[in-house]
Amino acid sequence: MPSSTICKTVRQYNREPIPETDMRKLQEIAKDYRAVKNYVYQRYGGMKSLPKIYPGYTVQNEMTASGLRASLGLPSVYFYLAVFDALGDIKNQWTQTKSRIEKCIRENENLSPEDRHYLRFVMKQSDCFEAILLEKELQLSEAWEKTFQEVRAGVEEKRLNQYLRRQVRRHLRKMHTDAVDGFSISKKAYRYDDHGIYLAIKEKRKRVFIPLTDNNRYAKQLYVRIFPGEGNVVIHAPVEMRVRQHEDYRREIGLAVGIRTMFVTDSGSIYGDKYSDYQYALSEYVREGNIRYRKNKEKNPGRKKYTAGRERLEEALHTYINAEINRMLRTEKPAVIYLPKLPQSSKAGVNKRINSSVNMWQRGYVRNRLNQKCKEQSIHLIEVFGKDISRECSQCGAIGEKGNAVFSCKACGAKLSERENAAKNALKRGQARS
Ligand SMILES: [Zn+2]
Repeated sequence: MPSSTICKTVRQYNREPIPETDMRKLQEIAKDYRAVKNYVYQRYGGMKSLPKIYPGYTVQNEMTASGLRASLGLPSVYFYLAVFDALGDIKNQWTQTKSRIEKCIRENENLSPEDRHYLRFVMKQSDCFEAILLEKELQLSEAWEKTFQEVRAGVEEKRLNQYLRRQVRRHLRKMHTDAVDGFSISKKAYRYDDHGIYLAIKEKRKRVFIPLTDNNRYAKQLYVRIFPGEGNVVIHAPVEMRVRQHEDYRREIGLAVGIRTMFVTDSGSIYGDKYSDYQYALSEYVREGNIRYRKNKEKNPGRKKYTAGRERLEEALHTYINAEINRMLRTEKPAVIYLPKLPQSSKAGVNKRINSSVNMWQRGYVRNRLNQKCKEQSIHLIEVFGKDISRECSQCGAIGEKGNAVFSCKACGAKLSERENAAKNALKRGQARS
């Protein structure tokens, strides 16, 4: 059963443009916030710092002692959030690094099953993993010691440890951010009043006032995103919301998620048919921006205008995606949605018009939003086995042919849109599994 509450980000907007003097004060915070994050990345992002980042008290204490806060003159309400923000990024980076290494271990044919078992074991036990990275003596609790003796028996430990360190060095990326686009703010550093919000700034006892379009008040850590070019801010507030239950959402549907069209259902309904236009506009802008940037690099052009333009296009794309997901759910009224599992990495269905990195990253966005909206409305989203889902005939199960977005089956004569056929298969597979 889905849980009864769910975390969601709501946004607040300024009612009128922020005066330049005030915006500059917010930019100062964002700039220092970035400086702190980069400092933390630099100092704690490396292999040797791994033992310090969980649970993070060491970092917090060392950062206090570093003198950075005083030298920036950044209020501590911002300083420590920046530290923890960066620490969060470092932790994510480690999670990603580990999963990349696991993949390498899986695919490395020079490793025996015992080798793999050993490597997986030491990666899971953080004590082992840290000791190996720091080339220190292992100290395990008695309970684990016994298991570990079995796991390490008969493997060339030294070689495998070296292999692991090499993999970490290869996959652990150095982190850095150039973005001066916002900062987190703790509830001690703001106050809602006068149809707006007062934010603490670097000057003592001074506040910047932002008139807001709504009168909602939150008492949580917020994130303030700034758009200096437009004189705008967007405040992100995480809220717990009760999950909605729709009595009349009873259908089970199959969904094909596409590159050109966002969704096609098993009954052939189409949602998000302008999806690729929005993506195209964004990827063209990114592409042209990159060319221009490379050409003028020695002149060191500012990227402010470019960034603002990219954000605008991305925002438009995201608004469109969200509206279309909402429309789909409202119209289809599903209790259960079956959709094919996303392939790990696939070259199939790539739209050549659209820069593949933009494409990949937006595809993740569609999935995440669909996931979130289904959770909010107690709709079950179930992934089904995706192999051959678009090649198999949904009427008779034979392997058919695809061409010009049409699926045709020689065995039974079926002829229908390729995506609709895939969606029908998703529904069929989903219902067969329960
Ligand atoms: Zn058929």
